[in-house]
Amino acid sequence: MIRTRFAPSPTGYLHLGGLRTALYTYLFAKQQNGVFLLRVEDTDQEREVPGAVELIYQSLRQAGLLYDEGPDVGGPYGPYIQSQRKATYMPYAMQLVESGAAYPCFCTKEELAERRAKAESETPGQWKYDKHCLHLPREEALARMKAGEPFVIRQNVPTTGSAGFDDLLYGHVEAPCDTLDDNVLIKADGLPTYNFANVIDDHLMEITHVMRGTEYLSSTPKYNLLYEALGWKPPVYIHLPPVMKDASRKLSKRYGDPSFEDLLAQGYVREAIINFIALLGWSPGDEREFFTLEELVQAFDVKGLSKAPAIFNTEKLVWFNHEYISRMDFEDYLAMATPWFDKVLAGKGTDYRRLAELMHTRTEVFDRVPDQVRFLAELPDYDIELYTHKKMKTDAVLSLQVLELASPVLAELPSFREEAVKEALMILAQKHELKTGQMMWPVRTALSGLHSTPGGATEIAYLLGKEESLRRIHIGIEKLRQAGQ
Ligand code: GLU
Repeated sequence: MIRTRFAPSPTGYLHLGGLRTALYTYLFAKQQNGVFLLRVEDTDQEREVPGAVELIYQSLRQAGLLYDEGPDVGGPYGPYIQSQRKATYMPYAMQLVESGAAYPCFCTKEELAERRAKAESETPGQWKYDKHCLHLPREEALARMKAGEPFVIRQNVPTTGSAGFDDLLYGHVEAPCDTLDDNVLIKADGLPTYNFANVIDDHLMEITHVMRGTEYLSSTPKYNLLYEALGWKPPVYIHLPPVMKDASRKLSKRYGDPSFEDLLAQGYVREAIINFIALLGWSPGDEREFFTLEELVQAFDVKGLSKAPAIFNTEKLVWFNHEYISRMDFEDYLAMATPWFDKVLAGKGTDYRRLAELMHTRTEVFDRVPDQVRFLAELPDYDIELYTHKKMKTDAVLSLQVLELASPVLAELPSFREEAVKEALMILAQKHELKTGQMMWPVRTALSGLHSTPGGATEIAYLLGKEESLRRIHIGIEKLRQAGQ
């Protein structure tokens, strides 16, 4: 039975590297009918951000990565929040103390800082805990613990030999023991560090496969020493290379790179994000590019994982998003587009259904929609240069004539249905021996003030309505007259 876990720390948002880890972990488990569980790693309480745990639940649901076990869904291996498992860790730590694989340490912060400073001045960058407390007589150490003196428990890493493990992606990874620090396993507040809790919980939760970032590659040999000391079998490890912004730096909220929530808020659709993220460092081995979550479950294979850091290419994400939006059911599109239309058109009575038809395949990211439709709310201040268009064979002089002809005809129309507007303009064009473009370009320019718009002259006239359309045409006439004087 495959059991995997996603084990985020509640530090505020689901970054895209984290989302990718969660996704691969989910896919790996689901493909083999295994269990995907969520474990919240909150033992570093100073880093915890209020509300972050709920955000994790919400983000995973939004991503469609439903976990079989977890803090808010329960399960037989709970609790799934590490701070609620506090009592679990100490007995194992004491077992390690008994066997000599760990030891209590009473060094105060000040003592450590002093010795560290001294060591750094002699050999910079080489400081490791100096095993000072390892040499305390056992009886004395136990007595001091009993007496309530603050202590931590440290791992006793051997000073010779090496420690290693096998990673499914990176192969055998080994580190000489004399480069490894005697990490704290249990802190003075009684809570375990990540270094200890991940080992205990992965074992107790019977995790068979661990996927996590390569930042843990170098400490995993040390975790394996703990598995050995406890007589446990370690899980299979699959460390994943980072998601990079560019060749030199990791994707990071600190530099303003978006989180999953940010992307959703910007109007990327979840399916596009998931599809895009899946391909950041994994390839199906063929040319396929489009995958639903279910298809990913079928197609996923660790053999397709890459060791090379993946570069987050925003243009590619935009491309995926545009594809997904274009293929979206129209009613879904309308529902998603409506709040974005509302940002600039609320209360204007615009026919959103018609506007949505025009915008559907023109929408790359929803947060660009308000700018694309703002001209309907407010005529942009445009330059009359816009009336000159070589291919359409129009210029300012001709445009003025066209608008002067069109204005009274449109004013006569009883209805501003698109077909009615179109017919009236076409008849007018014929009558004056104008090409379609020579009629439509000036009208569309006057109505929109833009070089490119969703829909042409007749669609825009309909969306604006008669009164506003005529007002804009008069503005155009005025502008052109003034320029002609
Ligand atoms: N809590 C760790 C993190 O958020 C998880 C590492 C792991 O999956 O073991 O980076």
